[in-house]
Amino acid sequence: MKRYRQICALVIAIFLLGAILQGCARATGVREYHKDIFALNTWVNIRIYAGKNGPDILDKAIKRIEEIENRMSVTIQGSDVSRINSNAGKQPVKVHDDTFAVIKKALEYAEKSNGAFDITIYPIVKLWGITSEHPRVPTESEIQDKLELVDYRNVVIDEEEKTVYLKEPGMGIDLGAIAKGYAADEVARILKKEGVVHALINMGGNVVVMGGKPNGQPWRIGVQDPRAEGARRHIAVIEVMDGSVVSSGDYERYIVDVYKKTGKRYHHIFDPSTGYPANSGLMATTVVAPYSIDADALSTTVFIMGAERGLEIVEEMEGVDALAITLDKKIYTSKGLKGKLIVTDKEYELQQ
Ligand code: AMP
Ligand code: MG
Repeated sequence: MKRYRQICALVIAIFLLGAILQGCARATGVREYHKDIFALNTWVNIRIYAGKNGPDILDKAIKRIEEIENRMSVTIQGSDVSRINSNAGKQPVKVHDDTFAVIKKALEYAEKSNGAFDITIYPIVKLWGITSEHPRVPTESEIQDKLELVDYRNVVIDEEEKTVYLKEPGMGIDLGAIAKGYAADEVARILKKEGVVHALINMGGNVVVMGGKPNGQPWRIGVQDPRAEGARRHIAVIEVMDGSVVSSGDYERYIVDVYKKTGKRYHHIFDPSTGYPANSGLMATTVVAPYSIDADALSTTVFIMGAERGLEIVEEMEGVDALAITLDKKIYTSKGLKGKLIVTDKEYELQQ
C-alpha cells in the first residue's frame, strides 16, 4: 500500500513538473526556432529555444558562420587562407584573429599527431580533387611531387604580428578538417551570450549541443552508418548534455574507381606520409569533447592514425572520448565511453 502511494506521488510529481515546465515556456514565450543554410561546404542546421528574438539570434549566428567561411575558405578569393597560399614562399600574410587561432590550434594537433594531422596537405587535396568537379586518381610521380610540399613545420606563425608564412613556393593550407569545429564553437558562444540555454547546432556531422533538451533529458546524437547508401541511418547513439560530437569518415566525400574497375574507394582524408587516402583500417570515427574545434581536429586525426594509436592520443586528453569503427564493423572506444555508447545496429560489434 505504502509503495502504491509512493508511485502515485511520483506520477503526480512528474505530471506537475511537466505542467510547470510547459507553463513556464508559455509564460516566457520560449519556443523552438531553427534555420538551415549551406555554408562551409555543408548543410548547417541550428535549433534553439528562445523568446521572440529567436530569429534575430539565429541571424547573428549565421552571420558569424559566413564571416568565418569568408576568412577560412580555401576557394574564396581574398580569404585569409587564399592569401596565405598565394604568398607561399614570398612573404608573411597578416590574418584575422579567427584564422590565426585556428591555424595555431591546427599546428598543435600536427605536433601531437606527429604530422598525421597536417593542414599543409592542400597540394595533395587539390591534386586528387575528391571534392571538386573533376576528381581523379593521380599518378605515383604526381603524388610524390606534391608530397614534398607537405610539412606543417614549414608554417611560420608570428603571434605578435598575427602573420602566417608558408616557407616553400607551391605550399598551401586547407582548414577543412578544423574550421567547422571553430565555427560551431563560435555559434555556441553567441547563443550563450544571447541567453539561449538549450540548443543543437549541426554542421554536417559536426554537432554541438547546449543545456540538454528543454525537457531536461540529454541530447541524443546518432553515429551515422558509414555504409548506409542514400538514406541516413544511425548505428549508435551518444547522449550528451553539453559539448561537441564530431564524426569523420571515408563515407563523407569519396569517389569509387570505376575507370580501372577496381571498385576501390578513394576518400577525402589523406595520409601525409603517403599522399593517398588514409588507410588505417577505419571507415569512421567520432569524437566527443567539450569544444568542437578539438573534436573536429581529433576525429580527422584518429581516422588517419587508426584505432589503436588514435585512441591513445584521445586517452591522454582530459574530458575527451572517441570511438573508431573498423572496416569489418567493429567499434573500439576510449575508456570514458565504455558502458555509455548505445549501439543500435547488430551488424556492428562493440569491442569491450
Ligand atoms: P573532416 O571532415 O573534418 O575529417 O576533414 C576532412 C577535410 O580535411 C578534407 O576534405 C581535407 O580538406 C582536409 N584534410 C584531408 N587530409 C587531412 C590531413 N591529413 N590533415 C588535415 N586536414 C586534412
Ligand atoms: Mg575534422
